[in-house]
Amino acid sequence: MNKFFHQISRRKFLLISGASASTIFLKGCLGNPPTTLNSTGQSQQSIQQIANINPEQKPETTKVKLGYTPIVESAPFIIAKEKGFFTKYGMTDVELDKQASWGSMRDNTEIGSAGGGVDGGQYQMPMPHLITEGLITKGNQKIPMYLLAQLITHGNGIAIASKHIGKELSVDTAKAQVLFDGLKSSKTPFTAAFTFPHVNQDFWIRYWLAAGGIDPDADVKLVTVPAAQTVANMKTGSMDAFSTGDPWPYRIVKDKIGFLAALTAEIWKNHPEEYFALRADWVDKHPKATKALLKGVMEAQKWLDNFDNRKEAAQILAGRNYFNLPTPDILLEPYQGKYNMGDGRVINDKSKAPYYWKDERGSVSYPYKSHDLWFLTESVRWGFLPKDYLTKSKQLIDKVNREDLWKEAAKEAGIAAADIPTSTSRGVEEFFDGIKFDPEKPEEYLKSLKIKKVSV
Ligand code: CA
Repeated sequence: MNKFFHQISRRKFLLISGASASTIFLKGCLGNPPTTLNSTGQSQQSIQQIANINPEQKPETTKVKLGYTPIVESAPFIIAKEKGFFTKYGMTDVELDKQASWGSMRDNTEIGSAGGGVDGGQYQMPMPHLITEGLITKGNQKIPMYLLAQLITHGNGIAIASKHIGKELSVDTAKAQVLFDGLKSSKTPFTAAFTFPHVNQDFWIRYWLAAGGIDPDADVKLVTVPAAQTVANMKTGSMDAFSTGDPWPYRIVKDKIGFLAALTAEIWKNHPEEYFALRADWVDKHPKATKALLKGVMEAQKWLDNFDNRKEAAQILAGRNYFNLPTPDILLEPYQGKYNMGDGRVINDKSKAPYYWKDERGSVSYPYKSHDLWFLTESVRWGFLPKDYLTKSKQLIDKVNREDLWKEAAKEAGIAAADIPTSTSRGVEEFFDGIKFDPEKPEEYLKSLKIKKVSV
């Protein structure tokens, strides 16, 4: 049976069995067994390349298990595996393990691959710092982690239920004050969801609301909802908004369930998004294999940023083993910076497309410590971390962030010196509402914000 008919018959079966089209997507996206495609089928060229590995750089192991979530953030892992970039550096047995939720990613990290979990993989921020501190693990066990590279910028958005089309809900939430006020005094306040609390999605939705004067803790209801429920909840009207990565926002528009109020690229241009991190015990035992993985990821990131490759990238990612999308077209338009926002607004701006290797500010892949600091400062802003983290953060970041390994791997991979940042800070960051974050003065940033849960 060819792929098209396979899709149709699967769709028909699920429709007959009472599932909606969105459920099909959700099931496909989240319910597949982990991918265990190994080095079989590697080209002659890859085998030749393995033979050419510098003996001093030969990895201590060829095996690692990386957890990922089927959104565009995970592309560097999938491309590195499928295009032979991991194999090229000697990592011939990289297992990519699709996670059912961010909660299971946290749990699988805690267990480690020896216990059937993972050695690391894709994380929202600041999960690696929180796991290191034992703040989100069971029994508050401290599992030291190392942050190795940023995976992507952009590619995320805030989706809103269709019933709010035409109510001025866009990047500037101040324009929709009437809508929020009206719902606040009703029995059903504006309800926004994310799939894991106190990380990226939660931060984007909070920043977006607060910038327009909407207090995310007092004026709306914020909830954690499993990814598999978000679309269903939007359809039934019990949820007004949710924040996540492509292809989800795009699917919401395509299926006419809702529209996009904002892209994260509009909230904070060239912002840090998700990261590659590993358990520290794995890295300490396998420093060369860690660098081999980094080299594979970097090469995949460079490959992904060549827009001529994005059609092939969409085809690989959409495949049954990975995102399991009905068609790669769902990824193609966002990959070119084209977003039909669903409320009549159309964005066609290549500078707002997802980038993996380089953006207008320079390196995307480099794990700038100044970005870790923003995530931890924002955690203090909302009371997710106590105020003393304003001073404790530096020490924590120095422990978790391994920009040194990124640099060593980049040099070994022959990355041009111009593409290797010399500063650990990207400098001052600016948000769409004019607020600035100077990594030298995180307290000043907090002072400049009107809505916050910390007194500074
Ligand atoms: Ca994300």
